[in-house]
Amino acid sequence: MSADVETSLRAPPAYDLARKAIAAMEAHKVWPTALNFELWVHYVAAKGSALAVEIDHMLEAGEPFTDSVGETLAAKFLPKQKLSGELLDAGDALSKELDSVHRAIESARESSEAYGQELANASESLAGEDTGKIKAMVESLTQATQRVRQENQTLESQLADTTAEVSKLREHLEQVRREAMTDGLTSLANRKAFDEALERACAEADQAGGGLCLAVLDIDHFKAFNDTWGHQTGDQVLRYVASVIGRSGAAPRTAARYGGEEFALIFPGETARTALAVLEEIRAEVASRVLKRRSTNEDLGAVTLSAGLAERRPGEPPASLVERADAALYASKRGGRNRTSSADPIAAAAA
Ligand code: GH3
Ligand code: MG
Ligand code: MG
Repeated sequence: MSADVETSLRAPPAYDLARKAIAAMEAHKVWPTALNFELWVHYVAAKGSALAVEIDHMLEAGEPFTDSVGETLAAKFLPKQKLSGELLDAGDALSKELDSVHRAIESARESSEAYGQELANASESLAGEDTGKIKAMVESLTQATQRVRQENQTLESQLADTTAEVSKLREHLEQVRREAMTDGLTSLANRKAFDEALERACAEADQAGGGLCLAVLDIDHFKAFNDTWGHQTGDQVLRYVASVIGRSGAAPRTAARYGGEEFALIFPGETARTALAVLEEIRAEVASRVLKRRSTNEDLGAVTLSAGLAERRPGEPPASLVERADAALYASKRGGRNRTSSADPIAAAAA
């Protein structure tokens, strides 16, 4: 996929592309941020590319080109962003490598110390003997050992500096990794983090033989909300809803922004009964709040959520679990919205 788009467009036609990109962005009401500009240059440069096709689909569906959409597209299609993931892996490999060098030097130091001690003992035991030659030999060996020890110490202190640098680098990489797994708008886990967490939770459930539930939640009639109050306000509401869902998503659960106005909650080791209770709490909390626009004090009414829950069947693949939770969500939508449905009749009866 990295061959799909080309990042350096430096020939004279690039000016023409840049103008076209700006015109297209303006026509589709896309903010001219640096990232959006880069995406749209690629869009106008290669109309049939996977990136362009995805943008076309969004435009046809009337979906707004928000910052988080831009970030998602960039992560998927722009080589530079993909590279940052590869860099993370390279950084990890480097720091593992340095760890093993550190251990090797440490063990060399220990053995040279032990060797020095042995020589010192030998020298002592020869102290009473009139064997000048042997003594001189042992002393010169002791001196040689001390030199080695000194060299090792220098090496060790150099290594300590390097290790400190590496651990700073590792912290930085950790931070970049955290950011790469976090949704920029809501600070919940993003889609990539969700996919990984679900994969992991399924593998753990297989190993431990425990259960696992998955919920998907979707804001009702959110397109209409955006149309009435604007996308900026819509974004604030997404943040608010995310904060309510996030409160119930502490580890080992995972709360994620699954897509535009869709969220997910993973419940490792929990039954559908407890998961349903949590979803009901979230749904009731969101529905009970009247939202206000602070700047104008305007009453925005309440937003509601529909949710779908599925309890994992033994050995069920993540994609199938997601599909069943989605089907339950659509049952909630069809049933009139602002409700929770379960894909599993037994769990529904128990709740
Ligand atoms: P339903 O009750 O069936 O879910 O209706 P809906 O209008 O919520 O669903 P639909 O899928 O038709 O529209 C989803 C809307 O969510 C489209 C878009 O306006 C809005 N949306 C998606 N992502 C964002 C975002 O990042 N910010 C804002 N403000 N709105 C978004
Ligand atoms: Mg919706
Ligand atoms: Mg939706």
